[in-house]
Amino acid sequence: MLFHDLQLIEPLLRAVKAQGYTTPTPIQEQAIPHVLEGRDLVGIAQTGTGKTASFALPILQRLSQSQPRAPRAIRVLVLSPTRELASQIAENFNAYGKNLRMRSTVVFGGVGQHPQVDALRRGVEILVATPGRLLDLMEQGFVRLNNVEVFVLDEADRMLDMGFINDVRKIIATLPRERQTLLFSATMPDAIQDLAAHMLKNPVRVEVVPQATTVEKIEQSVYFVDKSNKRALLEHLLSDASTARVLVFTRTKHGANKLVEALLKSGYSADAIHGNKSQGAREKALDSFKRGKTRVLVATDIAARGIDVDNITHVINYELPYEPESYVHRIGRTARAGASGTAFAFCDAEERKLLRDIIKLIRIDINVVTDHPYMSYAAANAPGLTAPPRRQNPQNHAPRNGQGRPQRSSSDRSGSGERRERSAGSGSSGSSYGGQRGNSSSSGEGRGGEGGRNRRRRNGQSSESKSLTTA
Ligand code: AMP
Repeated sequence: MLFHDLQLIEPLLRAVKAQGYTTPTPIQEQAIPHVLEGRDLVGIAQTGTGKTASFALPILQRLSQSQPRAPRAIRVLVLSPTRELASQIAENFNAYGKNLRMRSTVVFGGVGQHPQVDALRRGVEILVATPGRLLDLMEQGFVRLNNVEVFVLDEADRMLDMGFINDVRKIIATLPRERQTLLFSATMPDAIQDLAAHMLKNPVRVEVVPQATTVEKIEQSVYFVDKSNKRALLEHLLSDASTARVLVFTRTKHGANKLVEALLKSGYSADAIHGNKSQGAREKALDSFKRGKTRVLVATDIAARGIDVDNITHVINYELPYEPESYVHRIGRTARAGASGTAFAFCDAEERKLLRDIIKLIRIDINVVTDHPYMSYAAANAPGLTAPPRRQNPQNHAPRNGQGRPQRSSSDRSGSGERRERSAGSGSSGSSYGGQRGNSSSSGEGRGGEGGRNRRRRNGQSSESKSLTTA
C-alpha cells in the first residue's frame, strides 16, 4: 500500500514524501481511513509505530477541508504525557502540515509560560499540550477549548502511570460534546478502558501487533563486554553461519561508518544506513541487504525507522540506545510478520543502566550469555542494578564441552517486576516474578499465559546461545 491509496490530499502526500516515508506503517494503514471519515478511534500502538502520522495526517486533511466553528478557535487538542513527546508531536504536525496553512503550538510545564501565552494569543488551530500546564493556562483564562473539533489523548496508559488522569478528566469536561475523539495507548488497563468507554462514541479499535507480544517472540540475550572488545565479539558471532542477515545498531553515524569499515577489512559484506547518506544511497544499501548481497547492515535509529526487511536473522544492539523504546523498535526489525527472531544486546559497563531501563520497559527478562570469549565481569557488575549478578563458578559458565548457557539475572528480573507492578496497578511487593506476571494477565491486558510462554522461550534461547558460543 502507498500513501496515495489512503486518499490523502496532494499537499500531505508531498509533505510525507519530503519526510522520506515511502509506505504507510500498519497503524497508519489501519487508522487513517477511519479518522478521515470522522470516526472516533482507539489505537493500540506504541511510540515508534508511526502512530503520530496516523492521526496527524487525517486530522490535517479534515481541518483543511472544513471551516472552523468560530474565528481563531483552537480546533484540535492533543494531550501528551511528556514534554518531549508533546514537542515531537507538534514538530510532526508542522512537518506534515507545511503545505497547508495551519498554525500549531505546544505548551508544557517546566519552562516560562510567556512565549506559550504569546503564541496562543496569536491564534493556533492545533494545540499540543501536557495536562498540567494546559490546566494552568486554562485557569488563567489563556486557553478556551469550547470549539475543539478533534481531541487526541496520546499515550493514555502513561498518563495513568504518571498520575495525570484526573487532570485529563478535568480537561475533557471542558470540551464540546460534539467532537471527534482519538485515544492511543500501548496497553489497555481497566482505568483506560473506563475512560475510553466514557469519552468515545462508537469507536473503531485498531491495533498493531502489540510491541510486548512482538518482544515476547524474540529470543533476546545480552552479552556483557568491554567497549574495546565489541568489534571482536561481533566478528566472533559472525563467524557462525546462522547469523545470516544481521542488522546492527550503533548510536552514531560515525560509529556506523567506522564499524562498516572494520567489517569490510575483515572480509564481511557490510554497509551502513544513516541520516548522512542520500536517499538513493540508503535505498541501495537496503536493497542489497534485502537481496542477501550484504550480510550486515549497520544502522542508526533514525535511519532504521522505515526498514522493513523480512528474514532478518539477528538484530544486534552494538550500542544500547538511550531511549529504551528504541530497543523495542530495533529488535522489532526481526520477527516481522509474526515470525520469531533473535536479538543480542552488547552491554559495556557504562551501558548497565540503559540495560536496566530496557528490562523495565519490556518487562521480560533477557538471558545473559556468559560463555563467550569476551565476557566482561566488569560490565556485568557495573552499577545500575540493585543486585548485580555475581561472577559464576567458571565451570558453570564455561562447561568443558564449550557450550555456553545463558544465565538469567535475578536482579534484572526484579527490575522488570517494578514496572509490571505499576502498570498492573498492583500495590503488592515482594511477590515472585511469575506472580507479578500473573497479576498483569488479570489486569485486562489480555496477556494471560505469558509466564508459560516466556519459560518456553527461555529454553529456546539456551540452545540458540549454545550454537553461537561454540562457533
Ligand atoms: P511515532 O510512532 O509517531 O513516534 O513515529 C516513529 C518514527 O517513525 C518517527 O521518526 C516518524 O518520523 C517515523 N515514521 C512515521 N511514519 C513513517 C513511515 N510511514 N515511514 C517511515 N518512517 C515513518
